[in-house]
Amino acid sequence: MADLASTADLASIAVVGGSGFYEFIDHAEQVKIDTPFGAPSDPITVGEVSGRSVAFLPRHGRDHRFPPHKIPYRANMWALRSIGVRRVLAPTAVGSLTSVYGPGTLVIPDQLVDRTRTREATYFDEGACHVPFADPYCPSIRPVTIATAREQGWVPARSGTLVVIEGPRFSSRAESQWFAAQGWTLVGMTGHPEAVLARELALCYTPLALVTDLDAGVEEGAGVTQAEVFKVFAANIKRLRDLVATIIAALPEEREDDLCAHALDGITLPFDLP
Ligand SMILES: [Zn+2]
Repeated sequence: MADLASTADLASIAVVGGSGFYEFIDHAEQVKIDTPFGAPSDPITVGEVSGRSVAFLPRHGRDHRFPPHKIPYRANMWALRSIGVRRVLAPTAVGSLTSVYGPGTLVIPDQLVDRTRTREATYFDEGACHVPFADPYCPSIRPVTIATAREQGWVPARSGTLVVIEGPRFSSRAESQWFAAQGWTLVGMTGHPEAVLARELALCYTPLALVTDLDAGVEEGAGVTQAEVFKVFAANIKRLRDLVATIIAALPEEREDDLCAHALDGITLPFDLP
């Protein structure tokens, strides 16, 4: 483990995702970080990907001990920022609300609907601090992600609305049909509050949503099962890992001076940013 005093500049790009991402980091070192919001899901792995300094944090913990509603989201984003991270790539498994996007489809969502209920979804528990969230995801990294995916042989969906449910259960058929009727595209359980917490720390955040199943409202069988989800994700994890590594290589050295970087302009924060 590296000592805390030397961790301020360890990585500028982070991947927050499933445990299948450990293998893609070279010269990996574990860094144990503590935050005002407790410990993150796991020690952060820091190393090199495509010659860049990259951090990896397994969202659910390496043994998958945190279900979606118990993930320490605030500690996770805070810890990443504290080691120098400014750009976060978030590969995630989702259900599809449309038969157009079947299992194995990669979607780069552009909108989010929050249907979670029990999570601590802000750092701003005092003062008048309201970040813009009309466009919840980084506008600069999206085109790089889509172009790189195409070069790698994916046929990515360039937009989509991700509805984040509380879980850990899957949606009922009626809920799923209602989501689809709104024109929403995907269902997941971890995209909120991860995205808004990233915005509150002025981080660029980009989800890479891999469809693992058709949600209950669009499929005709008995509904989604966990086994189905894990099977499709496992079948695609290597491709997805290769894609994330290629996106990292394609990102500019310095992040763009975009809306994420300016999310806190004019806001008096109740704390010092890590
Ligand atoms: Zn950005």
